[in-house]
Formats: sequence, structure tokens, C-alpha cells
Amino acid sequence: RVVLGIETSCDDTGAAVVDEHGKILGEALLSQIDVHLKTGGIIPPVAQKLHQDNIDRVVKEAIISSGISVNNLSAIATTVKPGMALSLGVGLTYSLNLVKQYKKPFIPIHHMEAHALTARLLHPVGFPFLVLLISGGHCLLAVVNGVSDFLLLGQSLDEAPGESLDKVARRLSLIKHPDCSSMSGGQAIEHLSQFGDRNFCKEIRPMSQHQDCNFSFAGLRNYFNCTIEKMENVEGIEKGAVLSCAADIAASFQHAVAHHIIKRTQRAIVFCKQEKLLPTNASLVVSGGVASNGYIRKMLQNLTDSMDMSLFCPPARLCTDNGVMIAWNGIERLRVGAGILNDPLDFRYEPRAPLGTDISEQVRRAS
Ligand code: ATP
Ligand code: FE
Repeated sequence: RVVLGIETSCDDTGAAVVDEHGKILGEALLSQIDVHLKTGGIIPPVAQKLHQDNIDRVVKEAIISSGISVNNLSAIATTVKPGMALSLGVGLTYSLNLVKQYKKPFIPIHHMEAHALTARLLHPVGFPFLVLLISGGHCLLAVVNGVSDFLLLGQSLDEAPGESLDKVARRLSLIKHPDCSSMSGGQAIEHLSQFGDRNFCKEIRPMSQHQDCNFSFAGLRNYFNCTIEKMENVEGIEKGAVLSCAADIAASFQHAVAHHIIKRTQRAIVFCKQEKLLPTNASLVVSGGVASNGYIRKMLQNLTDSMDMSLFCPPARLCTDNGVMIAWNGIERLRVGAGILNDPLDFRYEPRAPLGTDISEQVRRAS
């Protein structure tokens, strides 16, 4: 079995051909980050236009480098939910044309399911496992009982950690920092943190009174933005210039984000042990763009070591959006025969789509 995967849910145009053993036969990825950094955020019609301009080239590159002809593909898998409507539309339209032309089965993919299953392409992670997805658009904890069988333990009540990191990086004008000009906000914060003092800002603990696994990052982000404003006054510089204490603020913010993520994950592990939702020595899989943060990974490693669990985290290039995870999700679905469509031509994308069964209320009551 060989599947072509296509990803266009946000600002990366990705395609890959993966076989049933998890071998990546061909892949291509085109990031739009340079364009979006200049405008200070993603403008949906701009993202759509870039996907339209590049999708054919990206898909062809993945197919040609795989050495597999489209006729020999077992299926075409494409992200259809959740994501930005205009971006999802480009991938779906392109895929349905291919499906029609080559008469291939179509496998619609949930973007977050794909992030969660990526670890199984690289490591023998068996079901059930706990997954923490931390990215630019999402933040959730779930028990994964099977390929499309998720129990949602908690999620962010406001914004995702990547979004907060991006906003604080932008408020710090890190794009003007000589080291960070082509980095995403999260990467810039991680890079500068190495040179900063994480105790520079007072510690704040979001949701410490809430006995559940939900997250909140907007209050943290707001607190740090206020601190930046204060420091601009102290240093006597204008908004938009880079503070001399930028590294200290970055380190304190990164620590606060990491600490919040760790606390909620710890609560999820305790709940799963109490309710016997996971076996002993279970795995914690962490993915999404923010999972490439070394500081957060290290804290998660300490947590899993202390709780008798194994941590699996795909390499950075597979944590952010890519076509490989979509193709692999297609392989996983083919194996169990779930959600394979032979006549998908009027299929619609869904910009908003929950993942699995929400049991967050049960988590809160159990605490
Ligand atoms: P989603 O997957 O939820 O649709 P997305 O596509 O924006 O969101 P990803 O591509 O998975 O998310 O990740 C991008 C996010 O990851 C950005 O917010 C970026 O700042 C963050 N990020 C990337 N590298 C790092 C890092 N080293 N440390 C922290 N955050 C990072
Ligand atoms: Fe993603």
C-alpha cells in the first residue's frame, strides 16, 4: 500500500508519498512563513493564492521523487478539517481532481488526528496512548484508543500556545532582532531564551484553581505584553524597538508557557491512571509546532520519567505541518478500513471540527 498525502490547512503546502511500512518515498513542502511574517499574520486570501500557485508543483515534486506513478497509488489522503476555509479548499479541490482523473479512493483527514498519529510512523507506539498537541492553532490532550477513536480530556479555552508565542514575539519586535529575522515567533522566543533569565518576570500560574485539563494562554500573553510596555517605559524606547531585556522576557514567557503545559499534562496523566484509561508504562506522544521547543520537551521528559511513562516526540520537521503525516494517516486508515471514500466528488471541507468524544466535564468532576 502506498498513499499520497496532501496538506493545505493553514500556511504550508505539503505533499508526500508514504508506504505501509512508514517509509517516506517522496515529499515536498513549501512554507509561506516569510510572506506572513512580513504582514504580521496570515491573511487568508493571500495564503489561498500561495497554495493555488504552488500546490501543483509541490504535489508533482513529491510524486516524482517517490518514483511511484499516480496510477500505482492505493489512495489519496487530504486534510479536510479543521483549518482555514480558503486554504482547505485549495487542497480539497486539487485532490478531488486527481481522484477523478485517476479513479483513486479518497481518504479525508482530520489535521489533528494526523498530528497525533505521526509518532506511530517512527516508533512502535501502541494504542491506547496519551497525546498532547501543541501548535499555532490548537492545544489539546486526548486519549487515543484507535486510529479514529479519541477521548478529548481538555483543550485551550482561548488561544493556542503557538499563537501566544507568536504574539509576544511580535510585540517584542523579534523580527528586527538580527538572530531571529526569519524565525517563527516560537523559534525566536526559544532562541533568545537561551541568553535570558527565566526568573526576570514574576511567575503567574493560569487556571491553578481549575481542577481539569483545559488550558488558557491569553491571560499569560496579556501579562507579558503589559510587562513589555512597562519595560519600554523603563528603558525609554519606542514601541517597535527591541528591548535590551528581550531575552529575559522571552525566557520568562517560555518558562510560563512550558510550566502551564506541564501542569495540565500531569493532571491528565493522573486522571488516566485513576480511571485506568492507560496501561502501565503507557506512552505520551507530543506533537504540533510548539512540540519542537527543546525547553518544553525537556520538562515533558522529566514529567514522563517521574510518572513511569515513555515520551515520544517526532523530529521538528514532522511536528509542524507537512504532507508526510497526512499520507501516514491515510495508511493507518487503509489498514483498518476506516473512512475510505470511493465516490467523494461532492465532499466538503469543515473549517471547525472537534476531535473525538469530549470527556472534559468528566475530568473536572473526577478531580
Ligand atoms: P495547527 O496545526 O493547529 O493548525 P499551525 O499549522 O499554525 O497550527 P504548526 O505548523 O504545527 O501549527 O506550528 C506552528 C507554530 O509552532 C507557530 O505558532 C510557531 O511559533 C510554533 N513553533 C515553531 N517552532 C517552535 C519552537 N521551537 N518553540 C515554540 N514554538 C514553536
Ligand atoms: Fe498543524
